[in-house]
Amino acid sequence: MRARYPGCARADTPYADISDEDFGRWSWQLKNRITDIDALNQVLDLTDRERDGFRATQPLFRFGCTPYYALLANRADPECPIRRQIVPSVAEATVHIGQRQDPLGEMPREVVPNLIHRYPDRVLLFATDRCPVYCRFCTRRRIVGHAEQQTPRALLSEAFEYIRAHPEVKEAIISGGDALMMGDHQIDAVLAALRSIDHLDIIRIATRMPVTCPMRVTPALVDIIRRYGPVYVMTHFNHPHEVTREAADACGRLVDAGVVVYNQSVLLRGINDDVETFRRLNRSLVHNRVTPYYIHQCDLAEGIEHFRTPIARGLDIIDGLRGHMSGLAVPQLCVDVPGGLGKVTLVPDWVVGRTAHTTTLRTYTGDVADYPEPVESPDDDAA
Ligand SMILES: *Cc1c(COP(=O)(O)O)cnc(C)c1O
Repeated sequence: MRARYPGCARADTPYADISDEDFGRWSWQLKNRITDIDALNQVLDLTDRERDGFRATQPLFRFGCTPYYALLANRADPECPIRRQIVPSVAEATVHIGQRQDPLGEMPREVVPNLIHRYPDRVLLFATDRCPVYCRFCTRRRIVGHAEQQTPRALLSEAFEYIRAHPEVKEAIISGGDALMMGDHQIDAVLAALRSIDHLDIIRIATRMPVTCPMRVTPALVDIIRRYGPVYVMTHFNHPHEVTREAADACGRLVDAGVVVYNQSVLLRGINDDVETFRRLNRSLVHNRVTPYYIHQCDLAEGIEHFRTPIARGLDIIDGLRGHMSGLAVPQLCVDVPGGLGKVTLVPDWVVGRTAHTTTLRTYTGDVADYPEPVESPDDDAA
């Protein structure tokens, strides 16, 4: 029999004697979530600096991590890309000028409680404020993890009523927190309520569970989601080390059921801000039938300045992907414009010159060539 959870080194941790059956249950993972410094220190050998960070950030943003995800981190190396996503740092307690509590300007667009309507045809629903793992770079730290509760049913029904009353809304994104912190019955109820709205076409579920707690993606859950298609699952891998066999299997179960699985990464300094990491990550995602959708430029939320990278870094990464590897593995670089003005996507400068008759293009190898515009351009008619 093949070893289960090969990426999780359980020897010399409190989980050494836990059966694979228990370890592989999502209820066990959530019940045994690591929530304090002593429990974390039994899995990772925390440095003094990390301990300081833990104390400094305690009043500011909740700490929490599944045993599964904590065990993927390197026990000895504080620079481990998974460890840095979990363990608070001293820098997180510092607020810089220009940072915002609400970097995406969601609050003014909250049309009813827990429903954001910013774009013409789609809405974002906060179904819970809980997560299996509280990512240190969370952009929604103003709401995430405070009460640790599901959005009360009455407030959700206000959101459904809003969508029902707005036929221009064609798509709903169930997010949070992590949407799959809801139990199966609750997810079933939310999906059923949305599907009962005739004009609503696409449902997206935003969840990091395939990464942080892949055992959440049970056959029973997949069966529920399958019934309400078209459903897209938007997940969030940031580093190739996160693509374990269990994570890949979780995504595979969804895809097998006809669910389209997309990935959104966040560009994080010192964690994944280089071409080689994204080549490896995206290659393995595509191999597992997960399509890279966005690389998000890190937002201007309070306390995450140390994770931010210059815009140029993201452009260099796209430059290092496009043409060099399968187009299926090339996502779009996405910047959420501060102040809630919406997302824009950026591409490297592939247009290097423009006249009335030619556009000059640079290719991925650095060759430069003129593209002749049509002799008779439709633009001429307009003149
Ligand atoms: C990101 C976002 C969406 C979805 O944007 P897409 O570009 O369609 O993925 C929708 N609503 C809000 C409020 C968002 O922040």
